[in-house]
Amino acid sequence: MQLETNDQLEQLKQRVAELESALAGTRQENEKLHVELNEYKGGKTSAGGKAVASAMEATPLSEAEATLRRLVQRIAMILQADKIVTMFHDRERGELIAVPPAFGFEEVNLSRFKVRATQGISGEVFRTGEPIIFEDAINDPRTEGDHFVQFGVQNGLTVPLVIEKRDEEDRVVEKNVIGVLHAFNKRHGEDFIDEDVRLLERMAKNVGSIIANLQLYREVVEEREELLQTFESLSAGLVLISPEGRISQINSTCRAIFGVGPDHITKTYDEVMPQKPLQDLIRNVQDGREAPMIELDVEVQKTDRVYQIQAAKVYGEDNKDLGVVAIFSDITDVKNIERMKSSFVAMASHELRTPLTAIKGFSSTLLEGIDDDIYDKNDQKEFLGIVVHECDRLRRLIDDLLNTSRIEAGESLKPNYSRVHLRDLLKKAHMVQQQATTKHTLKLDMDESTPAEVNADQDKLDQILTNLLNNAIKYAPNGGDITIHARKDGDDVLIGVEDQGLGIPADHVNKVFEKFHRVNNEDNRKIYGTGLGLFLVKHLVEQVHLGKIWCESTLGVGSTFWFRFPAEIDIEQAKEINN
Ligand code: ADP
Repeated sequence: MQLETNDQLEQLKQRVAELESALAGTRQENEKLHVELNEYKGGKTSAGGKAVASAMEATPLSEAEATLRRLVQRIAMILQADKIVTMFHDRERGELIAVPPAFGFEEVNLSRFKVRATQGISGEVFRTGEPIIFEDAINDPRTEGDHFVQFGVQNGLTVPLVIEKRDEEDRVVEKNVIGVLHAFNKRHGEDFIDEDVRLLERMAKNVGSIIANLQLYREVVEEREELLQTFESLSAGLVLISPEGRISQINSTCRAIFGVGPDHITKTYDEVMPQKPLQDLIRNVQDGREAPMIELDVEVQKTDRVYQIQAAKVYGEDNKDLGVVAIFSDITDVKNIERMKSSFVAMASHELRTPLTAIKGFSSTLLEGIDDDIYDKNDQKEFLGIVVHECDRLRRLIDDLLNTSRIEAGESLKPNYSRVHLRDLLKKAHMVQQQATTKHTLKLDMDESTPAEVNADQDKLDQILTNLLNNAIKYAPNGGDITIHARKDGDDVLIGVEDQGLGIPADHVNKVFEKFHRVNNEDNRKIYGTGLGLFLVKHLVEQVHLGKIWCESTLGVGSTFWFRFPAEIDIEQAKEINN
């Protein structure tokens, strides 16, 4: 008896020694994890500074997980248990759920090992914080809800999984139960004893602490991931520059602006951003000087963009200089609208002034000559003809402006549908426009499919054709052929106005239908217009005639404006839509 006890004592001593060394190892690894976690958290608040990168490289999560796995194996060995499993409390679900690593369990089945926090031995230990030894998993009523039998558990020992917060003098200041730790099936048919409880409780503290750190670590990693993803997917460009002047983060928008890959991190900012005003801005901010935002023209993927750039110094929690952040906002569209608006004002005043000058000139000439009969009837006729023509021009411009604002306000242009002689309308438009030009040859391309009649708003259809033909003449300043195509295509009439003029650059082809949009190149600038014509034409085709309009164009070769609409528009439906 004495001998047996001595033996047991020896064995116990040996186990305690093993345990002490296991504990020491674990504590060390755990401390390392702590330090790295703190470093990592510091890095995170430093908005992506160096600490982030280094922590990421030095402490892959897998290393901490491996530590935990070794610890679980040691526990199994020391306690002589067949199975070890950790359960974590999921507050949202109110459940205790097994988490890896476990010993003696297939990890794929682990997630099925769960119990409500109010049930079973697991629940009781979790709630009370007191360990429980059980000898008969099948018949012990306390195991109800634990599903122990399903996992081949016969007997076991369950202790709370505790995290302790300590102050500088290593005194426990806070204790939290975060789950439970089970050891199941004592080897050699034995039962767990009080000594095992003491051992497992000590090990549980380490497991708890590692798990808690891991959890925190994962959260920080996830948070960082989220931050990086947000950063990456921002439509604005963002660059972080370290105090040493190196790029520490650059998001995809910014990489596109500067045509660089992610490998440009760690290069200096002036290597990546060659623009002098931008370099000056960053330098000024870096040196704490006043730095107003700047605008920069850059070519991004072959299109001209304008960016507004703001930069600011970044400070850490402890007021540490963390470098400079620069934000790039794409203001190309705003700039275009601004430019278009001012060119519209210039155009509109020109368009207003020209006819007014003519009207005033010719009418005052007539007035001056009235008493002395200076001008004969023919002169008078000619002068008055010009006055009437210019008045019409003015009226058209004013109508365009009024119609544009009506469309803008969502009001209808009051269509008036009827049976329209399409062929006659096309012939008339062809004739009238041919009379207006000597430089161009107008051709009418109709075939037997071209319907004689369609349902349409005659005036508005005429307006569409007149507008497209006017443009064809206007934007082919060197003359050439202008062909009006008209044929039936399915249920639609397909009409095209083809010219051999200046053509339209590819990136403007769809935009010319926007209001105020004018192609802004040297050839076009010489030709006056308001940029409203095609905006109105599009509305007349699509809204009034329930059709479609588009343009095919090759720069320097010519353009064809096509539109189609149902030959037999359902007038009632069209009226409804335009009400
Ligand atoms: P405007 O002629 O008054 O400028 P539009 O809305 O009719 O306004 O046309 C918009 C722009 O589309 C024009 O400024 C011109 O740049 C381009 N455009 C229109 N028609 C043609 C054409 N047939 N050929 C070349 N460019 C054209």
